[in-house]
Amino acid sequence: MAVITTHSTADLDGVASTVAAVKRRSRSPNLIGTLKHRLPAPITRLLHEAGELADRMDLSAYVVGGFVRDLLLDLRNLDLDIVIEGDGIAFARALGRDRKARVKTHERFGTAVVIFPDGFKLDVAMARTESYEYPTALPTVEPSSIKQDLYRRDFTINTMAVRLNARNFGELIDFYGGRRDLKEKTLRVLHSLSFMDDPTRIFRAIRFEQRFGFHLSKETLALIKSAVKTDLLHRLSGHRLLAELIALLCEEEPRKAIIRMAELDVLRFIHPKLASSTRLQSLLRRVEDALEWYMLMDLNPNMDSWVVYMMALMHGLTDQAVADALARLSVPARDAKKIKVGQSTAPRLVQRLARRPPPRPSETYHLLAGLCDEALLLLLATTKSDSVKRQLSAYLTTYQHFKPSLDGGDLRAIGLKPGPIYRKILAHLLDARLNGEVHSESEERTLVKRMAKQ
Ligand code: ATP
Ligand code: MG
Repeated sequence: MAVITTHSTADLDGVASTVAAVKRRSRSPNLIGTLKHRLPAPITRLLHEAGELADRMDLSAYVVGGFVRDLLLDLRNLDLDIVIEGDGIAFARALGRDRKARVKTHERFGTAVVIFPDGFKLDVAMARTESYEYPTALPTVEPSSIKQDLYRRDFTINTMAVRLNARNFGELIDFYGGRRDLKEKTLRVLHSLSFMDDPTRIFRAIRFEQRFGFHLSKETLALIKSAVKTDLLHRLSGHRLLAELIALLCEEEPRKAIIRMAELDVLRFIHPKLASSTRLQSLLRRVEDALEWYMLMDLNPNMDSWVVYMMALMHGLTDQAVADALARLSVPARDAKKIKVGQSTAPRLVQRLARRPPPRPSETYHLLAGLCDEALLLLLATTKSDSVKRQLSAYLTTYQHFKPSLDGGDLRAIGLKPGPIYRKILAHLLDARLNGEVHSESEERTLVKRMAKQ
């Protein structure tokens, strides 16, 4: 039996506090063992140190949100969000000093990021309440308690916290039934105005629903439906809408999330012409296959799969509609350009690649040169022709990286006079390589000498 010798509630004393502590302990489990077993040792150590530092500064410290949820679900998540009752920025700075880490602060929001020498990042925030001047506005923030801080969050499963102060290290704080909802696989908002305050939560609901295979509570679903009807989502800024959309499209199975967005009638806030159809659904399946192949081939790790999904989602819209949708979402110019190019060139290019007899490798190369991998993957997903697929995969895996062995310096060494002719010769060498007409540096030299004579 646990013997309670310490009083953890400052506003109670004597017997009352002991009783309160016993009651609370029997209700709130301690996760000290879970933390120890499920986290890498340096992380557990960091959490202990954060708690000890908070003790020295006379602050209360908690790790909160997605980290706690995933800890209970036994899913790996090392995104630490620490909330401090009191001056979070001072805490972050002190932690930075102790651990020789860099600290970036946002005074206005009372938040900071601690960046450790090995690159590991830790978010620190002061406990705060948020109020919304008008629906969809960015919230006004004020310092407050952990309880208030957790109340402003999206779903009960994200409202749990773990105490870090040494005396109660590991204690689970669950004011809003997060653990019950986690067990029942339920997504539930904390109050009925939640989606009015912040309609991006609708996208977050879809994201968590699909990721964890959870369901929306009856009230939460009804609240989403009525928020969607109010058209409040039209007032949401493009940046915020895009951020949530990208987060959705970066999940394991964006196809299901897109279908769910259509079901809940939120695609129209991106563009009125967007809707789910069997054609879209089968295109999305082929996008999945194309991406899976791309990952297996271990190609460019910087390829943005969300861009491919976005192209697929907009496939079939007119160029104008695509431009409008991208503007609505404030898609950054670089990504917008990729999406527009992929959209407008896909059908034409697929047609040209499909011609009989099939293009030679050098022709395929010139048709596709300059297209980003995202657009090429969209092409791969839109075509049913095996010949076109073969050309696209050859281009993605090899053609686009082809270079002749010789360069300008070699041409000079061979005795050719520098000039515009160099570009022509090198281009010709590349074509010859692609078409398998030359296979080695010495064959290239022979070809160059023959060209020089002509
Ligand atoms: P993920 O695993 O996708 O990162 P997460 O729950 O950690 O999920 P974040 O977007 O990283 O989500 O946000 C961290 C925490 O901040 C959430 O757990 C939630 O408590 C809170 N939060 C984030 N966005 C919102 C929002 N729009 N409204 C209310 N609370 C939010
Ligand atoms: Mg997170």
